[in-house]
Amino acid sequence: MAEYTKYVDVTKCDGCRACMVACKNWNDLPAEPEKFQGSVQSHANVTANTWNVLSFIEHEDSKGNLDYLFRHSSCFHCSEAACVKVCPEEAMHYTDFGTVNVDSDKCVGCGYCVQNCPFDVVQLATYKDKNGKEYKKAQKCTMCVDRLEEGMQPACVTTCHTDAMEFGTQEEMLKKAEKRLSEIKDKYPNAMIYNPEGVGGTHTIYVLAEKPSVYGLPEKPKVPTSAVVWKDYAQPIGKMMLGATSMALVGAFVSNKLFNKEGKGHEEDGGGSHE
Ligand code: SF4
Ligand code: SF4
Ligand code: SF4
Repeated sequence: MAEYTKYVDVTKCDGCRACMVACKNWNDLPAEPEKFQGSVQSHANVTANTWNVLSFIEHEDSKGNLDYLFRHSSCFHCSEAACVKVCPEEAMHYTDFGTVNVDSDKCVGCGYCVQNCPFDVVQLATYKDKNGKEYKKAQKCTMCVDRLEEGMQPACVTTCHTDAMEFGTQEEMLKKAEKRLSEIKDKYPNAMIYNPEGVGGTHTIYVLAEKPSVYGLPEKPKVPTSAVVWKDYAQPIGKMMLGATSMALVGAFVSNKLFNKEGKGHEEDGGGSHE
């Protein structure tokens, strides 16, 4: 099957937030009242129940003019996804559309995916079972895979009234992005296509008016080395020697030491740097 991509041209977005509402509505996600954060942006980042957030950025351009920049942010659906790499249960997986999804039945809520996503777009939601015991599951944008399976487009794309978002084959969307970039270069000299190689390219690509860091995006995100070491070396050897159950306990220790975003290992890899 062809791989599909969501194309986001931030220069056409007018900040209406209809994509946020459409996502909540289609995916039955509860409202999350937020305190005023000093700007018109509703949420600081995506959460387990808010899978896309419209970022509002005040920016002074190279000519000293103040500009308001907008960005629809959600999962990038990386081709070489760190979340897939580290998930010990294979709950994070690639779909036939080339996108990345969570299988809730398999997810054990360990949070490795949260710790390793270079874009901070997956979070753990908390639930209670019938005995009142809490458990967690990873949640993020699914690229509306249930709609794709019915031949429809993602809800956010369908609702966008400025055509800032489109959805199609990866090839078509990349061509569209190249064409658009050539049209806006005069107005936005720093404009670029954001489709980072360090994660193998993504299935949500952006035409940005300014460099990635202006939008709170890492300039050169990549799959953290710790994630590769964990999945390709430590985990298989550990499972062989200790068995899967003991390995889950070791995993809890490793997740704190090796994958801790505040820790040195992650920063060295450039993932999660949003300056
Ligand atoms: S953006 Fe993060 S959660 Fe989404 S596919 Fe990439 S690594 Fe996984
Ligand atoms: S929380 Fe753990 S088990 Fe669940 S998807 Fe993330 S890495 Fe996999
Ligand atoms: S693709 Fe679907 S799940 Fe993802 S942000 Fe858009 S509406 Fe939400």
